[in-house]
Amino acid sequence: MTDPYAWIEQSLTTIHRADWYRSVQTINGRPGATVLLEGREVINFASNDYLGLAGDERLMTAAIAAIQEFGTGSTGSRLLSGHKQLHKELERAIASLKQTEDALVFSSGYLANLGTITALVGKRDLILADEYNHSSLKNGAILSGATIIEYPHADVQTLKCELQRLRQNYRRCLIITDSIFSMDGDLCPLPALLDLAQEFNSMLLVDEAHATGVLGKTGAGCVEHFGCTKHQLVQIGTMSKALGSLGGYVAGSANLIDFLRNRAPTWIYTTALSPADTAAALAAINIVQQEPQRRTQLWRNVDYFKNLIKQQLPNLKLLPSESPIICLQFSSATDALKAGKQLKLAGIFAPAIRPPTVPTSRIRISVMATHTETHIDKLVETFQTMN
Ligand SMILES: *Cc1c(COP(=O)(O)O)cnc(C)c1O
Repeated sequence: MTDPYAWIEQSLTTIHRADWYRSVQTINGRPGATVLLEGREVINFASNDYLGLAGDERLMTAAIAAIQEFGTGSTGSRLLSGHKQLHKELERAIASLKQTEDALVFSSGYLANLGTITALVGKRDLILADEYNHSSLKNGAILSGATIIEYPHADVQTLKCELQRLRQNYRRCLIITDSIFSMDGDLCPLPALLDLAQEFNSMLLVDEAHATGVLGKTGAGCVEHFGCTKHQLVQIGTMSKALGSLGGYVAGSANLIDFLRNRAPTWIYTTALSPADTAAALAAINIVQQEPQRRTQLWRNVDYFKNLIKQQLPNLKLLPSESPIICLQFSSATDALKAGKQLKLAGIFAPAIRPPTVPTSRIRISVMATHTETHIDKLVETFQTMN
């Protein structure tokens, strides 16, 4: 008898051998600048909760009130029994933050990307995608059935050459990029991408997952940061990072949103976002708009950390970053894992990110508005003892 599942164990062995094996670690208590990791208090540099809102009393109160009024489950998809006034309010708030005509809320950012890309392009179309794009953008592209060409990271010149070579052979064209690259922390060259999109009659989709609430004068993201809010484009994002809740969104023209409500399968055929998540995200957007000092503090912490690294650890290789995501490169997965373990022993939570997630192994640091200088000093001191 042969075992048709035997390959799974062999595959796991291979994953272990390459030091690519991953497993979960348990966090207890409320999220924040420090957390309980497997029962021990650590300084948290592993969170996407940039503004410290996931543990904010106001979000929790809003979520509890929504549960008391509407219950826990949405009970159906938005087009059937799941739609609530609360969803509409959140969509209005997102559109106002993003300065777009309308917005649509999905159950996650991953689903927003899958649904939007598959609705916008198909077999007769072309996708040009940054090679470092998030998994949800890559899989959305594959699912769409369009021809996919990946261009080297942020390489506008190559992108232009590909557009010149291929654009005329396809019906529609969609350029896809992260705005803040999630595993590197650098920014897409948005103004140049917008120019190329215009020149080659192409749509442009930017994923603002890590930039919403973080970049731009009012926290609208990379599009605002570059002064491009007036341009037509497809803006995607998540409520699960700086907004401290759960769910994804698309923001853009009224026509785009109307079309997606009719054509995005991951919106039509899935249950509406829960009342608690919806209310928490809505409360978070209000805070993002009313408390710019959180963003100011976040960027102050980023500068403090970067300056300290430059002064105290000139030999460490920092990847280029224009965001609160700051990566220190290591020559192998084994070295990065070792550094991650040493940090953990010293009471610091900062994960090693390895292939296949990224091409080169690194320790990825996420700075939060709620970190103190003492937290950041401790991180840098720990790196010093490792050198
Ligand atoms: C986290 C992330 C997503 C997924 O968002 P979720 O709401 O967590 O599903 C999508 N795109 C990028 C760039 C991300 O970093």
